[in-house]
Amino acid sequence: MTNDTLLPFDLPAVALAAVIDKGCGRPPGRGAPAFVDHGDPPAAASTFPLLLKDALGASSHYKALHPRPSSLKDGRAVYLDGERVEDVTTHPAFRNAVRSAASLYDFQARPENLELMTFVPDGANRRINRSWQMPRDYDQMVLRRKAMQAWAGVSYGFLGRSPDHLASSLVGQRMGIEVFRRHGEDRAKALAGYFDYISRNDLYLTYVIVNPQADRSKDWGDQVPDLVARIVDEDAAGITLRGAKMLGTSAILANEVFVANLQPLKAGEEALAFSCALPMNAKGLRVLSRKSYEAAAKSVYDNPLSSRFDENDALIYFDEVKVPWDRVFVHRDVDMCRAQFHDTACHVYQNYQAQVRLSVKIKFLIGLARRITESIGTINIPAVREQLGYLAAHAGMVNAMLVGMEAAGHKWGEYYLPNRHYMYSAQVLTQELYPQLMNLLRELAGGALIMLPSSVLDFANPELKAIIEKTQRSPSMSPERKVKFLKAAWDAIGSEFGSRHTQYEMFYAGARFVTTGHSFRTFDWDGATGMVEQLLSSYDLAGALEAERR
Ligand SMILES: Cc1cc2nc3c(=O)[nH]c(=O)nc-3n(C[C@H](O)[C@H](O)[C@H](O)COP(=O)(O)OP(=O)(O)OC[C@H]3O[C@@H](n4cnc5c(N)ncnc54)[C@H](O)[C@@H]3O)c2cc1C
Repeated sequence: MTNDTLLPFDLPAVALAAVIDKGCGRPPGRGAPAFVDHGDPPAAASTFPLLLKDALGASSHYKALHPRPSSLKDGRAVYLDGERVEDVTTHPAFRNAVRSAASLYDFQARPENLELMTFVPDGANRRINRSWQMPRDYDQMVLRRKAMQAWAGVSYGFLGRSPDHLASSLVGQRMGIEVFRRHGEDRAKALAGYFDYISRNDLYLTYVIVNPQADRSKDWGDQVPDLVARIVDEDAAGITLRGAKMLGTSAILANEVFVANLQPLKAGEEALAFSCALPMNAKGLRVLSRKSYEAAAKSVYDNPLSSRFDENDALIYFDEVKVPWDRVFVHRDVDMCRAQFHDTACHVYQNYQAQVRLSVKIKFLIGLARRITESIGTINIPAVREQLGYLAAHAGMVNAMLVGMEAAGHKWGEYYLPNRHYMYSAQVLTQELYPQLMNLLRELAGGALIMLPSSVLDFANPELKAIIEKTQRSPSMSPERKVKFLKAAWDAIGSEFGSRHTQYEMFYAGARFVTTGHSFRTFDWDGATGMVEQLLSSYDLAGALEAERR
């Protein structure tokens, strides 16, 4: 594989290749490290418009592997600014995000990426994304991870709910099909059938598994009617749902949505205790988009991230939505709502994917930090280098935790799982790390992030351009390059898009009390307290008094 095989946009090949291989090598004794030094990055040649051409049909592999963006022109009911959106693929609030999502499939379909990104499932005759693969050993897990890291590289880690997230959830549930069998043979059959359908068609699935925040002092079953999605009817054909779920990230980009309840339920709340999957155009399914940062982006030059990677979040309202039985996986069972995540490999796999993606994003952010210090000439100040070293140590920590959860993984039946506690530890620490990182980036930058032309159009005015060229000075960059870079940095750190990312990294896996709860639940307390007991049992009162008497 050469550098430029991994170039979906103007992504520096060396950065992506290094992200994939460096710092995430195999642990000792498992083979040679895979890192290859690729030298200096080539000039950025491939640009977004080129990519769009690919994504929208230039690649025949793309057609073979994934429905075109036109699969999203399916009559889905998306609402923005008080109106129903006719076509998300052309609407200025969503079209670039749709193309970015499509570009993931385009990327995997490039002949030179097929082996890295895809595999052929047993009994199938077409390749699908590796995130649908159920690793049976450590090596397969690492191959799968490399594919996910490469995909994350396409958006620099800013597409949080790329399709490999839900693929990971379903892979984990499919591995734990026995848990569904205990719930009922029909429900297990539905899940297995759905897994085959969604994976073999390599579709984009997202999820809503959290209830809308309303009155947290009350149980879910005691909230006002029609707030929390619940089963309001059922018949021979299936169940009917009414109520809401939050926060369907990427729902606008996805083909299907998985609906479930991750938060604890109690006896009596059986109507809330279901899981199912629906196409995004299911009758009665309404998508209430939050504000579009893509629509607010001035241009790709002013907002290179938010103009392309605003994956969107939305409240999903189920207005008497009918779900056929072959798409119902959990039915009126509060414990099964928990078990589908935690007694299967679902929760560990979906959150492992999130750490894989985050490893790419953190590396990108640390790259921003270094360039910030170069752009304002602080890079050689010892205190600033110390700060960069501190930041780099965090990137190292995130990678080390990733490698650690794989290396300390274990067999679970015929499958291989990452180490649960290491994964939860990473989750707790990284949800704190992200806002700290943002603060450190701000601290390194000062006012440079703000002292910027109002938009790219200032360059079109010769008088203003002349002033910009006199005032945007940098020891390492031309005025134009400095403006371009700092606008990108602000988009990541301080724009509304950047700020939403901080909220995302802090909450996507649950509030802190939830993630620390998982860490508490999965730690080897017996081992830890056993050591304490061993120490205490190595002496006693009588012996100590005896020693004093001697
Ligand atoms: C950008 C973004 C995208 C998201 N995308 C999705 C998605 O695609 N699909 C999906 O299903 N969900 C999604 N979510 C929802 C996410 O899973 C939830 O935000 C998360 O689980 C936390 O739940 P909550 O927001 O209800 O916060 P809460 O659980 O209400 O917590 C908020 C705060 O209240 C306090 N608090 C509440 N209860 C307790 C307690 N028992 N003990 C101590 N403190 C407490 C804490 O200070 C806590 O930080 C997304 C969230 C964000 C921010």
